[in-house]
Amino acid sequence: MEQQDIATGPEEHRTTTVEQGRFCVARCSCGWRGPARRARSLARSDAEVHGAG
Ligand SMILES: [Zn+2]
Repeated sequence: MEQQDIATGPEEHRTTTVEQGRFCVARCSCGWRGPARRARSLARSDAEVHGAG
């Protein structure tokens, strides 16, 4: 069994965008990952939609 650091506070979605090669992927502190995008602006909008939803 592995122990994981799981935040037990209120739901918090801290999103960031990570560049992977020629793509950009939105990531969230909750573990969510968006699809690979060619433009960071698209990855950011993915993150915004996730955080809002
Ligand atoms: Zn999230």
